[in-house]
Amino acid sequence: MLTAEVLRVRQLSASMVGITVSGPELEHFEYQGADQCFRFFFRRPGQDVLRIPTWAHDGWIAQYMLMPASKRPYCRIYTARSFRPESHELDIEFVAHGDSSPASGWALRAEPGDQVGIFDEGVTYNPPADNLPVGGGWQLLVGDESAMPAILSILEGSPSDLRAHVFLEVPHAEDIREVAVPDGVVLHWLPREDDRAIPGRLALETLVAAELPADSPTYSYLA
Ligand SMILES: Cc1cc2nc3c(=O)[nH]c(=O)nc-3n(C[C@H](O)[C@H](O)[C@H](O)COP(=O)(O)OP(=O)(O)OC[C@H]3O[C@@H](n4cnc5c(N)ncnc54)[C@H](O)[C@@H]3O)c2cc1C
Repeated sequence: MLTAEVLRVRQLSASMVGITVSGPELEHFEYQGADQCFRFFFRRPGQDVLRIPTWAHDGWIAQYMLMPASKRPYCRIYTARSFRPESHELDIEFVAHGDSSPASGWALRAEPGDQVGIFDEGVTYNPPADNLPVGGGWQLLVGDESAMPAILSILEGSPSDLRAHVFLEVPHAEDIREVAVPDGVVLHWLPREDDRAIPGRLALETLVAAELPADSPTYSYLA
């Protein structure tokens, strides 16, 4: 369990806010890239101090639930978008989906110095390294905007011979990023442009209708 504080806040696109947190305890953050995620603790309105569980194992959940409601912080899951170990800076990308949801609202109001807590949950993206078909096969990566940090990190960390079809749904065309991908990656940006639509549905519908390679993907990541 690590503590840090907000260092920088910047608007990344129409719907995404980038927040960099930093602090000496992040010396112990073991960055693994890809879709590495963590529990993210932040203060509720009215709490002047951030109190987080102290156990560095899964028992933190019991500790958390036993905290009096008035002292218990909010807790959500976020992706380690990038990390600079030399300066202990961790970048997080928040979907700004409104002021009334705790984490989204927190990100929209965040200021340098705000305290946060981090409990590393590790990586789930784990494509096979051997027993691949001739040609190496291909991967399928699908997600909405809350999975965009993970999918962009996966693409950035992938080998240059990666072959993949990527379906990335975002709220608006203004959320589409300039992303350099290997030649074998086909990146389908899918702007939803409908604030009432269920996030992720467009990506799934597009995937179902898509013309994909005849052989099955060697690895699929859907989030
Ligand atoms: C492994 C993992 C990694 C994740 N990484 C990230 C990340 O890097 N960045 C990120 O922004 N999210 C990420 N998420 C998703 C994030 O944890 C949830 O969206 C979280 O619920 C947001 O908390 P909140 O307090 O803002 O909203 P909540 O109070 O938890 O949700 C309230 C309501 O807000 C709405 N809502 C939630 N998310 C969205 C959305 N994306 N678009 C529109 N409406 C929404 C829903 O109606 C929901 O019922 C990740 C989730 C997982 C499981």
